[in-house]
Amino acid sequence: MDAKDRLRVVEGRIAAAAERAGRDPATVQLVAVSKTHPAGSVRELSAAGAALFGESRVQEAADKIPGAPGLRWHFIGRLQRNKARKAVQLFELIHSVDSLRLANTLTRLGEERAEAVEVLVEVKIGGETSKGGVRPADLEAFLRQLQGRSGLRVCGLMTIPPPVRSAEDQRPAFRRLATLAQEMRKLELEGVLINELSMGMSSDYEIAVEEGATLVRVGTALFGPRRPWPR
Ligand SMILES: *Cc1c(COP(=O)(O)O)cnc(C)c1O
Repeated sequence: MDAKDRLRVVEGRIAAAAERAGRDPATVQLVAVSKTHPAGSVRELSAAGAALFGESRVQEAADKIPGAPGLRWHFIGRLQRNKARKAVQLFELIHSVDSLRLANTLTRLGEERAEAVEVLVEVKIGGETSKGGVRPADLEAFLRQLQGRSGLRVCGLMTIPPPVRSAEDQRPAFRRLATLAQEMRKLELEGVLINELSMGMSSDYEIAVEEGATLVRVGTALFGPRRPWPR
């Protein structure tokens, strides 16, 4: 299968999953995760129709993006504060805010450029083996601290649940994130919108869409196995 075929397969599965759940497929955006793959592979997938790409390292993205211009980019990795300025320049959405210090840095950058930095808050679902994220019990307090900031807009929630044996086993984690989002929306905090749910990767994106994902982050199913990235 070439890039075009792989994209058609993934888009078709997203649409079918959305329809099974009674959702409009247009409400799900595919984030093509291009980490470790060169700009040429990104151009190939964009020629096949992909418009939105995801990267998890700022420097790798900064090296790659000029070779694949005219596309939209999301940051999906752990963001170090000393790379935040660069990230804000490169990416339209940062999926992985889980500390007040990082949120404060991003808020200052948003104030500086007089345009709110758009972020998702990463939530730790499924216990201590997940690397990052705000614990569900702490989420409301965290969001309350982020409300009313001119430099920051919280657009939704994101999660990376620990791997499980089968995709179906991931359903409770996705459902939990969707339920949390509903609860947080009811708080009606200023500048905290919670419209987006970023969940689902190559192994489980269809389940995530059935449970309400609006952003699925798919790498391997689109690009094949990850490559060693020259550093
Ligand atoms: C690499 C990565 C993905 C994509 O993973 P695949 O299994 O290759 O689809 C999704 N989300 C995050 C946060 C990642 O780092």
